[in-house]
Order: sequence, then structure tokens, then C-alpha cells
Amino acid sequence: MADRYRCILLFGAPGTGKGTQGQLLGERDGFVHLATGDIFRSLDKETELGRKFVHYSSRGELVPNDLTIQLWQEYVKGMIADGRYDPESDILLLDGMPRSLPQAEMLDGLLQPLAIIHLTVPNIDEMVKRMKLRAEKEGRHDDADENVIRNRFDVYNRETAPVLGHFDKRLVIDIDAIGTIEEVFERAVAAVDSVRV
Ligand code: ADP
Repeated sequence: MADRYRCILLFGAPGTGKGTQGQLLGERDGFVHLATGDIFRSLDKETELGRKFVHYSSRGELVPNDLTIQLWQEYVKGMIADGRYDPESDILLLDGMPRSLPQAEMLDGLLQPLAIIHLTVPNIDEMVKRMKLRAEKEGRHDDADENVIRNRFDVYNRETAPVLGHFDKRLVIDIDAIGTIEEVFERAVAAVDSVRV
């Protein structure tokens, strides 16, 4: 058995397109895309965990670390059990994990990051614009309100950005996230393929 999950971490502020790029990359052979936000959104809103998710995400806050890690680990075990993910042969493309230093520390023994794809944008306004568009298209409650969006950036800077410093600098590949989905995807594929070789 592989002792740690080989993975590529998708990194970037809210609105940089991690979800879109992760999904596209996940269609490539040997990669399995897993977004923590998707796991949370698939929860039944009537369960206690589902209610907690709505409570935190509607304010732009992170769900508490212990809960998140427990749910995430159970979810990955389920993926292994039903054959969606094979740790021996697949590389996990992780979006939204780890998203804080405590999460990174809790997963140290479990993850083997091969690279960190860091999507970068020059300014916040570009991202706010994208997120409002997304809110209209997808009906996401956490993107509809400008104050919540701003708080998500604050939380990103305070809790998530420091996670980059937890890992070996040589793993980080910066990618310009400005351009069409196809243009950014080309850059992302080049980065991912350089890892696989
Ligand atoms: P975005 O990347 O645009 O913030 P996500 O779909 O990744 O959107 O996440 C939506 C919400 O889910 C977050 O605002 C947060 O409340 C919760 N969430 C996602 N990943 C994590 C995580 N690793 N730890 C805690 N909360 C998380």
C-alpha cells in the first residue's frame, strides 16, 4: 500500500479559478480531482454538519479544522473503497485542502505533495468581478454579498496563504490566472505534466 497520498495542491485566492482548472485537470488519466468545498456542498443541509457548513461558509469563514479533517479523511476512504481513487496509481488534485496551518500539520503524515500549483492574479478587483458573476450563475450563497467576499479574502490572507510557507518552496509553481479558461488550462497542464515526468 502507498503509505501517503501522492497529490498536487491547487492553491490560490478565492475566485482565481482553482475549481474550474481542477475539474479540467481531473479529466486527465491518472488524476483524481477532489475539492473540499464540493464535499461540504454535497452534505444534507438538515444534518448537524450540513448546518455548520452553512453557518461558517455564509460568513466567509472556514469550517473548524478538526471537523473538516475528519470529514475529508472519511470522504477519501470512501473514494478508495468504491474505486474512485487508487492511491497506488492515481495522483490526487486537491482543491481547498489544506487550507490552514493546523490542517497542513494534521495531514503531514498522510499527504505527499508532488507540486503546488499556485494560481496568481494581480489584484482583488478582478477576483471580486469573477465571483459576482459566479454567484449569478451558480447561486452560491457565499459569493452573493460583497462583504462576505471581502471577508473570504481576509480569511485567505490570514489563514490559507501561510500554508504555502509550510511546504518546500521548490514545490511551488506560480501560474498566471488571468486569461481565458483555455489559456490558463494550458499553463496548468504544462505544470502538471512537468511533475508527472
Ligand atoms: P472558494 O475556494 O471559492 O472559497 P470553496 O468551494 O473551496 O470556495 O469553499 C467554500 C467554503 O467551504 C469555504 O468558504 C469554507 O467555509 C468551506 N471550506 C472549504 N474547504 C475548507 C477547508 N479546508 N477547511 C475549512 N473550511 C473549508
